[in-house]
Amino acid sequence: MAIADPDCLFCKIAAGEISATIVAEGERTIAFMDINPATRGHTLVIPRAHARDVHDIDPEDLRAIVTAAQDVAAKQLHRLGADGVNLLNSNGPAAWQTVFHFHLHVIPRYDGDPLKLPWVPAPGDLDDITAAGAELAD
Ligand code: 5GP
Ligand code: ZN
Repeated sequence: MAIADPDCLFCKIAAGEISATIVAEGERTIAFMDINPATRGHTLVIPRAHARDVHDIDPEDLRAIVTAAQDVAAKQLHRLGADGVNLLNSNGPAAWQTVFHFHLHVIPRYDGDPLKLPWVPAPGDLDDITAAGAELAD
């Protein structure tokens, strides 16, 4: 297993050194709310172990992430009233990756929502992010 990178933002979230609205935790994964949500309920699923991207990640961690994302996606439909879900993962700057610790975006979609990909990240309303996280939490 790769060791935590002391300079990595998501390793710090995984270690609890930076706070995040966590909605689910597994042996290998953590799911938490994106602070710049593309839509209400936008969640990120990461491996606990640092890995830069899809080329670097332990396949067992990747499987665990997909399974965790499936669970979050179901909750987005049933608890947030989403009509659809985008699973999105970016690898390398050319593919829009900005945080270099593997993450899978789980983005709920609502009929007629105005989202266009790639979205332009903008800070969300923290109270509403926390509220959506509470609705999604295990
Ligand atoms: P990428 O652009 O690498 O695919 O996605 C990185 C995501 O991480 C972005 O959607 C961004 O909003 C999110 N993000 C960046 N910094 C933080 C942070 O400190 N906390 C949380 N919860 N999300 C973050
Ligand atoms: Zn990391």
